[in-house]
Amino acid sequence: MPDPLTPEQRHRCMSHILSRDTKPELKVRHWLWQHGYRYRLNVKGVPGKPDIVMRRYRTAIFVNGCFWHGHNVDFDLNNAKNGVKSSECCKIPKSNTEFWTSKIRRNQERDRKNCQLLIENGWQVIILWECQLKPKTIENTMQQVEIALNDYFIRTFSRNTKPYVSIDEDSLPIAAEDAADYE
Ligand SMILES: [Zn+2]
Repeated sequence: MPDPLTPEQRHRCMSHILSRDTKPELKVRHWLWQHGYRYRLNVKGVPGKPDIVMRRYRTAIFVNGCFWHGHNVDFDLNNAKNGVKSSECCKIPKSNTEFWTSKIRRNQERDRKNCQLLIENGWQVIILWECQLKPKTIENTMQQVEIALNDYFIRTFSRNTKPYVSIDEDSLPIAAEDAADYE
């Protein structure tokens, strides 16, 4: 039976279905929630509509599908057939290669711009790839996310607060001398 859709319609239909596959994003949300982290989804006014926004940590998380965002794809024109080299987790289709290549490149370009805009506005950006969220890898990945969150929180906090306590051994008062001074 012939495909009732034109190739262009088919692409659109496929991309619609696939881009709505939020499973990896759900895994991230679930982990964060379980570990006591709270977040918001698709917050307005934050550049690039990050998948997960953690205001307290001023961190935006994007959960990228390896195919749609071209994880590890090599676009070096001199280095590969048709100007693109597939990676382990992003196999560029053999047919309509040009279409997919330009689509993925556009996505990457948009990702880069969003990322830059967020960083310029003081946000930490964490990009998670689908392949990092498989059962074997998710725990390790999310532990790294947790470190990044807390690290950024501390650094952001200390940037705005002058340290007024400095502890080094020489400056510590000696009890006996102090007592003598106050008498
Ligand atoms: Zn990947």
